[in-house]
Amino acid sequence: MKVVHIKCPKCQNPFYSKATDTVFLCEHCGAMHVREPELKILDYEFWDFAQAYQGERYYMPFWRLYTTVTIHHMQVAGGALVKLANLLAGGGSSGNIFIYVPAIELSPEEFKYWSNLLTFTPPRANVALKVDKTVPRLPVKIGEAEAFKLADFLVLTYEAEKPGVLQDIRYDLRVNTAKLIYVPVFYYQNRYYPGV
Ligand SMILES: [Zn+2]
Repeated sequence: MKVVHIKCPKCQNPFYSKATDTVFLCEHCGAMHVREPELKILDYEFWDFAQAYQGERYYMPFWRLYTTVTIHHMQVAGGALVKLANLLAGGGSSGNIFIYVPAIELSPEEFKYWSNLLTFTPPRANVALKVDKTVPRLPVKIGEAEAFKLADFLVLTYEAEKPGVLQDIRYDLRVNTAKLIYVPVFYYQNRYYPGV
């Protein structure tokens, strides 16, 4: 396996990391950082495994984007409520929501599955106080800037779930903050399953 030599920007500790990952976790001080497109220390958390399932255990990274969504106009056939509008407090047209964007490459179907699952039915996960170092982290392939763009795309796919229901939508999406969340998963027969 190819490894790269890294120096932690926070504590200056030198360490080695897998060349496949774009984020680096310092085992000395716990700081996580990216080096491209610029050096930046990231906010992150790991969630605890809450259920046992067959397969191999991994931590799957997601960008959790704290966003402000404002719907300017939405035309819905048959008066059905739409997912995004349901999330906005009190059925208002504006509000703050967390959008989860997978930070690894997945098939379009799986990408949508995971984003939907965590955005609309987030599990009551415990933040891990101690990370299980025997469980590998899946390498981050999708950077923060790309995740911002994907969030916009995901909002539309959330709403387009039932064809013909949503006829027209005009909205603004502003990303306030981003955090990398490592979600426990099981890999079994070529698929990932939630471990929370
Ligand atoms: Zn460090």
